[in-house]
Amino acid sequence: MTRNGIHHVTAIAGSARRNLDFYARTLGLRLVKRTVNFDDPGSYHLYYGDAAGQPGTILTFFPWEHAAPGRAGAGELQETVFRIPEGSVGFWTHRLIEQGIERSQRFGETVLSFRDPDGMRLALAAVPGIEAEPAWAAGDIPAEHAIRGFHSVSLMLEDIAATGAVLSDVFGFAAAASEGGVTRFRAEGTAIGGIVDLRGVGGFLPARLGRGSVHHLAFRAADDAVQAEMVRKLAANHGLRTTEQKDRNYFRSVYFREPGHVLFEIATDDPGFAVDEPDASLGEALKLPDFLEPQRAAIESVLPELA
Ligand code: ZN
Repeated sequence: MTRNGIHHVTAIAGSARRNLDFYARTLGLRLVKRTVNFDDPGSYHLYYGDAAGQPGTILTFFPWEHAAPGRAGAGELQETVFRIPEGSVGFWTHRLIEQGIERSQRFGETVLSFRDPDGMRLALAAVPGIEAEPAWAAGDIPAEHAIRGFHSVSLMLEDIAATGAVLSDVFGFAAAASEGGVTRFRAEGTAIGGIVDLRGVGGFLPARLGRGSVHHLAFRAADDAVQAEMVRKLAANHGLRTTEQKDRNYFRSVYFREPGHVLFEIATDDPGFAVDEPDASLGEALKLPDFLEPQRAAIESVLPELA
């Protein structure tokens, strides 16, 4: 079975508590994992997703309370777009009115764009025929209107050719359409997280990473063998070298800087978020990898209160 598309998006937030309030309450995503940044265990790593936390629905954050704001520019992931049912446009327009929501048409679909409390660019794309997909009902958001995973991401790049070649050759995407300076790449047969839009913006200042910026974009690999083949192709056909594989507990990852300077990751689908706590209570307790468990008391004492 081919499993292509986006695995997760990881961004930088300011306050962890404000981040949780916005994503879990205002947008109604499920907090599927409450852990720490394995490379910086004094800060949280919060994972939001659908009920099961399946790949293609996962938006994660490093909340750094005192992070300076990022600056938009070339060489970054500019916007993260979720799927909503076509009949839910009115519900979300009303709900997000305070976020200064803007409505537009892109590639024939209605899109509502807005920003999160840290200035991160988000959007909801209205997709026909997805009403019956399983959904996580959260608080005052009925399941019928719930977000159904990622629709797409858009990358703003100095030049799109080399990045497009990596998407097509390594990650199973193909250029599908162009509109208003954006080229849309689709992973055939992938409904959730199967679109990457590339916008070429020659001459722009480079982006500066900070609060509200996306840190990296992860693509799916079904398992280690598929990931290893992607790594081989990146080196052989594109001259790109990845890091060694890192065990992230919920997936195993390699990282590389793609030709347009966005940090890409390749993450395995297995083992998923139920590896260290039951499905029913995902995200409720602070979970640490084995190598950090001996430091739990110290870590808990420096993490901010979430609620
Ligand atoms: Zn990642």
